[in-house]
Amino acid sequence: MHSPQFTAEPSSNGTVERDFTVGDVPGLRSPASGAGRAPLTFDVIIAGCGPTGAMLAAELRLHDVRVLVVEKETEPVSFVRIVGLHIRSLELMAMRGLLDRVLQHGRQRPAGGFFAAIPKPVPEGLDSAYAYLLGIPQPVIVHLLEEHAIELGAQVLRDCAVAGFEQDDEGVTVELSGGERLRSRYLVGCDGARSTVRKLLGVGFPGEPSQTDTLMGEMKVGVPQEEVAAKVAEISKNHQPFWLRPFGEGVYSVVVPAAVVSDRAEPPTLEDFKQRLRTIAGTDFGVHSPRWLSRFGDATRLAERYRVGRVLLAGDAAHIHPPIGGQGLNLGVQDAFNLGWKLAAQIRGWAPETLLDTYQAERHPVAEDVLDNTRAQVQLLSAEPGPQAVRRLLTELMDFDEVNRHLIEKITAIGIRYDFGEGPDLLGRRLRDIDVQQGHLYGLLHRGRGLLLDRTERLTVGGWSDRVDYLADPTAVLDVPCVLLRPDGHVAWIGDDQQDLDGHLSRWFGKPAG
Ligand SMILES: Cc1cc2nc3c(=O)[nH]c(=O)nc-3n(C[C@H](O)[C@H](O)[C@H](O)COP(=O)(O)OP(=O)(O)OC[C@H]3O[C@@H](n4cnc5c(N)ncnc54)[C@H](O)[C@@H]3O)c2cc1C
Repeated sequence: MHSPQFTAEPSSNGTVERDFTVGDVPGLRSPASGAGRAPLTFDVIIAGCGPTGAMLAAELRLHDVRVLVVEKETEPVSFVRIVGLHIRSLELMAMRGLLDRVLQHGRQRPAGGFFAAIPKPVPEGLDSAYAYLLGIPQPVIVHLLEEHAIELGAQVLRDCAVAGFEQDDEGVTVELSGGERLRSRYLVGCDGARSTVRKLLGVGFPGEPSQTDTLMGEMKVGVPQEEVAAKVAEISKNHQPFWLRPFGEGVYSVVVPAAVVSDRAEPPTLEDFKQRLRTIAGTDFGVHSPRWLSRFGDATRLAERYRVGRVLLAGDAAHIHPPIGGQGLNLGVQDAFNLGWKLAAQIRGWAPETLLDTYQAERHPVAEDVLDNTRAQVQLLSAEPGPQAVRRLLTELMDFDEVNRHLIEKITAIGIRYDFGEGPDLLGRRLRDIDVQQGHLYGLLHRGRGLLLDRTERLTVGGWSDRVDYLADPTAVLDVPCVLLRPDGHVAWIGDDQQDLDGHLSRWFGKPAG
């Protein structure tokens, strides 16, 4: 039996090789030899190397946490789903020095017109230095995030699934699909909508099941483009969603409603596409040579809990909803950004007692809100007269700048305000990228540490300087004297009093060193 090889340092491309047997590998045991606990080989094992898992691995590596990502697929997903990175995700990329890399592979589009596809312009003066949407293929963003995580030292083990686990008061024993066992302090399920980790944890996933399924794929067609275009124009009036869009070289992106709702994990067949095209369009357009075929549903579900002891959930493992508004990947990456520094603090030993629980306290309500706004958007796309009337009314209301702005800030996640208690409106919100003497504020956050931006030049981060950077800049464009930023860029404190600041440093960054 072959088992993965784990090294103190990842191989040059970060991918773990599978050349050694169980007995050769410290910390690995076959199930038969599993009496007693193996040593803690990793601090965190992440199930799933989708966008959420890869982002989390990178965030943990910023704090030198030993991370293994276990991914059941051999290669990153091959199907080319173009996703939109919304403003807050672009800000996260800028905060970690990834924006230029990401921009090279995407197309910038206006940030407006996403709520229920109601076409409205972006309001003036949206509060971000990155006020656009970036269309980018999902496999590319996954690849870039995985590459970033590996560059930072994460290990990624492909072709291997998390099959089971047991947790105790010191750690988690994770069983892999080959039967090997690993020990880590924490396990995070970033393993998508059908999450094994969530199911094994016994965490409820209440919500609404899929009402409709949609088939999506890329394939060649056997008839001229004009013929396809004419038919599509005719059918699209009645059927949502339905399209055949040319990609060039005879390849089309095909989207067609499925015949029945299916809970199957396997992709549909070309024959499924042909049948549905014949039923809906009266012709299958001679489709052939598929590049990839996929299906997605419109179920809406939210995990009851994001944490049970040493096991946590993030991304689609914790929440699913219809793709309208393009928020799922963004939400998962932002979960990872919220969780990463907190879990790292826990492992490094400086986390205040309740810090890790703020992950669920902050992110669960955000997901609830996204689920609700997608429910609303689905209704607004219905062809029924009632929802159509509501859509017309909302379209009118969105001519009011405040309404349009509110909905854009919701979809792009720049409107999020975590509940940090009483205080000015900025408290709990993320701070936009602003110009500072050293360049851009976000350029100073690449290391994933806290930051005190001090316009008074009187304050100090004292015994927290190993976790929190200090920037004195009286010229910073900010209408408050000082802000304390968490590593995720949210404003944890506003003021000018050292004693008050020290209290807040303790609240978020634990006891001072020394
Ligand atoms: C048609 C469509 C369009 C979309 N458009 C957008 C958009 O524009 N913007 C947007 O933000 N979102 C969009 N989404 C949603 C987005 O694709 C998902 O929300 C996103 O992929 C979730 O990322 P994730 O990492 O949480 O989960 P996933 O991407 O599902 O990744 C989970 C990973 O875990 C692996 N895995 C599963 N089980 C195990 C196991 N037991 N052990 C190890 N590995 C395992 C899987 O192989 C996979 O690689 C769209 C979705 C669809 C269907």
